Amino acid sequence: MYLLHELRANGFSSRVLEAGDDVGGTWYWNRYPGARCDISTTDYTYTWDPELHEQWTWSEKHAAQPEILKYAQFVAKKHDLYSGIDFNTKVTSAAWNDSAKRWTLNTSTGETITARHYVMATGCLSVPKDPDIPGTDRYQGPVYVTGRWPHEGVDFTGKKVAVIGTGSSSIQSIPHIAEQAAELVVFQRTPNFSMPAFNGPQPADRAARLEADRKAYEAEARLSSAGVPMEMPTVSALGVSRDEAFAMLEKSWQKGELLALGGTFMDVGTNREANEVICDFMRTKIKEVVNDPETAELLSPRGHAYGTKRPCMDTNYFQTFNLPHVRLVDLRKKPISSITETGIEFGNESKDFDAIVYATGFDAMTGAIVNVDITGKDGLTLKKKWEHGPLTYLGLTSVGFPNFYMITGPGSPSVLSNMMVSIEQHVDWIRDTLIDLREAGVDTIEATPVAEEGWRVHCTDCADITLFQDTNSWYMGANVPGKPRVLFPYIGGVGRYRQTCDEVRARGYLGFELSGSSTKQRNDGIVRQVQPDVDMVLEMMAQMGLPSMDSMSPAEARAFSEASSAMRPPGPEVGEMIDGTLPGAAGPLEYRLYRPATKGPHPVVVYFHGGGWVFGSHVSDDPLCRDLCKNADVLIVSVNYRHAPEDRFPAAADDGYAALQWVAANVASLGGDPSRIAVAGWSAGGNVAAVAAQLARDNGGPELKGQLLLTPVTDGSRQHGSHHENADGYILTKSLMEWFWNHYADQSDRSHPKASPLLASDLSGLPPAMVVTAQFDPLRDEGDAYARALMGAGVPVEHLQARGHIHTSITMVDALPSGKPPRAQMAAALRRFLH
Ligand SMILES: Cc1cc2nc3c(=O)[nH]c(=O)nc-3n(C[C@H](O)[C@H](O)[C@H](O)COP(=O)(O)OP(=O)(O)OC[C@H]3O[C@@H](n4cnc5c(N)ncnc54)[C@H](O)[C@@H]3O)c2cc1C
Repeated sequence: MYLLHELRANGFSSRVLEAGDDVGGTWYWNRYPGARCDISTTDYTYTWDPELHEQWTWSEKHAAQPEILKYAQFVAKKHDLYSGIDFNTKVTSAAWNDSAKRWTLNTSTGETITARHYVMATGCLSVPKDPDIPGTDRYQGPVYVTGRWPHEGVDFTGKKVAVIGTGSSSIQSIPHIAEQAAELVVFQRTPNFSMPAFNGPQPADRAARLEADRKAYEAEARLSSAGVPMEMPTVSALGVSRDEAFAMLEKSWQKGELLALGGTFMDVGTNREANEVICDFMRTKIKEVVNDPETAELLSPRGHAYGTKRPCMDTNYFQTFNLPHVRLVDLRKKPISSITETGIEFGNESKDFDAIVYATGFDAMTGAIVNVDITGKDGLTLKKKWEHGPLTYLGLTSVGFPNFYMITGPGSPSVLSNMMVSIEQHVDWIRDTLIDLREAGVDTIEATPVAEEGWRVHCTDCADITLFQDTNSWYMGANVPGKPRVLFPYIGGVGRYRQTCDEVRARGYLGFELSGSSTKQRNDGIVRQVQPDVDMVLEMMAQMGLPSMDSMSPAEARAFSEASSAMRPPGPEVGEMIDGTLPGAAGPLEYRLYRPATKGPHPVVVYFHGGGWVFGSHVSDDPLCRDLCKNADVLIVSVNYRHAPEDRFPAAADDGYAALQWVAANVASLGGDPSRIAVAGWSAGGNVAAVAAQLARDNGGPELKGQLLLTPVTDGSRQHGSHHENADGYILTKSLMEWFWNHYADQSDRSHPKASPLLASDLSGLPPAMVVTAQFDPLRDEGDAYARALMGAGVPVEHLQARGHIHTSITMVDALPSGKPPRAQMAAALRRFLH
């Protein structure tokens, strides 16, 4: 409806084809008793016509289906949209004609329509899923599907009714059906988390904010994470006591807002243990309400994280199971063997019913799209292309299908958002794009394969740091047999997604090929490459407006670095940590020993911290050292080598080697195994480690089993391309690196192999290495060059080029989930070297 309005307003000719006989979509089809929105009507409402807010007043916080349908009708009448819609007209197939540069659509009415542009606004939850239960067509009594409810309503008075399914639609309808039915049996496969809607007037705080400044509120919604203005949580569910956590959750619970519980803590989406705090809270609530402990337990979700299946909102759902005529059947224990002519056979029972209600969900997100036989270029069908999962660019377009768009398609925030906001954003983008194309004389727009693959990778990166993939949900396609198992919606957030779409346009349709009779433009590229959690940190830091460290004195930089370190999660528990001193090249050096909890003697890793030779200490990489100690099962000795500018080159290098020699000579007394020693280091510490390995080779030992170099400094010339490509914006900057070098070493010393291990004349005979470089790091290319040079010299090398990472991100243990896989690979390398 909004798109039709915008197309008309901007002078495009358009037709809307609608299978139903009225407007309303979801709210036209889903007429089951109790059907309501569960995003508050303060937010689940159009924003594109400001007059509507004066002309329409929602009666409730969560409006019921009839009211939302009336709203759609009201808007359609007000804007004369009925005249632009062909009702009772289903699109059955569509094909791209590449010579005419037009789409041809066939409809259920037998009509053929051609169009320059083709938009699928067919809904994400508009195709009810066929129940995969044997015998469904045997049943002779009335059958109802929640997503296709009869317009005249259904009277269950005095009837024996079966409801199959316990997702959102049944959770909303069961209390109403139970009010009428003489007997109600609910068949449940998986229990769901649901919280009371506490329906009533619109939330006072939101209404007041809208009243005070509607535009600001709407702008905040558009840049929020789920399309509803929310305060961003800053507390970890694991950072407070269970009582405190429950008290905070109770406050959120009382709000009766869909997103409130999940928004109480910052880590429920990414950390299973934190998520379990909410799950526990919800199960406690169920137990408080449901009288029979066995039924309460059956209704209590276990085994999936809160939010990874769509949380539900209800009015008296759990209370309904206290009624004497309502029974819950656990399909995991008593599966349905068949629907019969008169009822249902399940477990060892057979029961007659007067009516069966299927509330078995939807073929979500892609169902309505692939239901239409869509053929793009070269005979490729969308169904075939999406066989292993939907491939889209921005969830809006797909390669091979020019001038084809989807509203809230897979790969966009869609069902993980307040869909009113997401729908409007897509309409705005499509409208603006069509205007741009018209103005530029462009006939076709098509995403490039590089852009589409980049978007797929980005969507996967976003999904990988959440808990969604562990749950069989319709978000993952798991409810439909044979459907590919991927996270269909984009989980990166509504605001970030909008910014991305805007950026694509602003950068001249990055990732698209545009062509017209006198114009052709292929602007290939990938719009998002930094890991999503890293990107968030960068954005947060940019917002904080932190001073650059190279504008500070070394003392200020050290204080700044210590203050930032104090805010980190500590890293995993290890068996023991001991602080001590060892003799360096010119005096005692502090060290910290990390011992695994397992039985020793352990192999030993001498570790050198990062900090550009200027700051940091034996404890400054604590979380990383703990992580490596635990996961590689090695004893780590982290050394506080001397720092510049007080002690310039070669102090750090000499201390590194001296520390290595001392550890090798004292391994047994430290509880380590003298025959298994390796070195490791990050950044400048990676430089110290690489140099120590070379010195050990050249000076008669100790013999090393391996070297782990994480984003190491290897070349003082700083001539590599990554210093320019990643000069700014990724924490370690080109100028900060220059500041480090200036403090550490004179120009004339920088080509010495003790400063630049890459420049050593001979790299043969060095211990096996793992070299980790980060894609968005000024030091990337010199790390890559070192890995290649080692390989060229015959050294066994594992070279990990960490995609989407920056210089610092892999060390951020427990703060950035995307760093976990590369760290696991680092630990595995140490195990390989040493175990
Ligand atoms: C019970 C229920 C409750 C929901 N509650 C919320 C909520 O609280 N908050 C929220 O954000 N979202 C909610 N949603 C999601 C809801 O679908 C969206 O909010 C929104 O209504 C989608 O609008 P749409 O126009 O994109 O799609 P729809 O409303 O689904 O409309 C799609 C239309 O396309 C038509 N169509 C499909 N295929 C064809 C074809 N081949 N040819 C012609 N016409 C076709 C359909 O008939 C339908 O009318 C809910 C969904 C359901 C099912």
